[in-house]
Amino acid sequence: MTEKHLCTWSIDKSISESPHHHLKPENEPEICNTILDYIGNTPLVRLHSIPAKEKIECEILAKCEYFNAGGSVKDRIGKRMIEEAERDGRLKPGFTIIEPTSGNTGIGLGLAAAVKGYKVIITLPEKMSQEKVDVLKALGAEIIRTPTEAPYDSPESHIGVAKRLNQEIPNSIILDQYANPYNPIAHYDTTAEEILRQTNGNIDAIVAGAGTGGTITGIARKLRERIPNVKIYGVDPHGSLLAVPDTLNTTSASYKVEGIGYDFIPKVLDRPLIDEWIKTNDMESFTMARRIIREEGLLCGGSSGSAMAATIKIAKKFKKGQRVVVILPDSVRNYMSKFLNDKWMLENGFLEGKKNEKIDLNGL
Ligand code: PMP
Repeated sequence: MTEKHLCTWSIDKSISESPHHHLKPENEPEICNTILDYIGNTPLVRLHSIPAKEKIECEILAKCEYFNAGGSVKDRIGKRMIEEAERDGRLKPGFTIIEPTSGNTGIGLGLAAAVKGYKVIITLPEKMSQEKVDVLKALGAEIIRTPTEAPYDSPESHIGVAKRLNQEIPNSIILDQYANPYNPIAHYDTTAEEILRQTNGNIDAIVAGAGTGGTITGIARKLRERIPNVKIYGVDPHGSLLAVPDTLNTTSASYKVEGIGYDFIPKVLDRPLIDEWIKTNDMESFTMARRIIREEGLLCGGSSGSAMAATIKIAKKFKKGQRVVVILPDSVRNYMSKFLNDKWMLENGFLEGKKNEKIDLNGL
């Protein structure tokens, strides 16, 4: 090692005497009044390794929504739905917010409620990860687990239980992400605008999973207005019935990917805006999420794997010089005990080639 590579710069010397390479501070962040200011303006990151290995010619850009303050794309609607309800007087100090969610909307609402001082009750299907429950609890939310298999319109479902609590608890409100116009509007006003700004409007396609459908609907509406030829691809897991045509929805079997797919069509999902639906399965979703982490360094969740698996399927339609944007909705933080964990992957048959091997799980 030469002297230049050792730390030879002492505290009493000025920077002009430093032998090392220094960087100038750029875009220094301003002070956020609250952490809610750190929702939105997420990075759009060019992918390299996966497109090269998959022999994809077009550019793939990932919108990394896990950089939002609460760790997911749903922080945007948690904040927005609360602020709009405050604005129109439906939500007042001392009120209780009740919401049926697959977890991330709950975290977004819980974050905003923690800052603003509301009580929150979240109804959550059993399938959703313990990590989400723990974060919700830490944010002060009360959690009620509901059977995953309960149909959405049954009194036992997360939606049914939320409705009952709303009737029982005075001064309570369901902001209702499934029907609230500010769910897609949050993405129309922010997520889509950011993508347009970040790419200078130079995009050929967007790929996003649908749960409530707010993300894809809001983004699609804005992009269609600005880029008439843009292609919109929706991603829906096998077992869900959001895809069009309905013949794509061949099974009602359960699936483990969280946050996408439903057994009813939410009001906020504007299906005619979507050009084509791609169905995905658990295996490709979790395998791809692990690849995104390992090969691109993006610490995303399982539905990001679904979106990326779908992106690879459609990317061959696009040539060099064209651009496809894929939404990565949440963070691996939500799934530390699930697809990030080898034991969980093996037990659920998602580690390719190892399914039939005798493996000592105690060592993992
Ligand atoms: N991925 C994850 C992990 C989610 O939590 C959600 C929200 N349910 C989505 C994707 C889909 O977002 P949207 O509800 O806007 O369709």
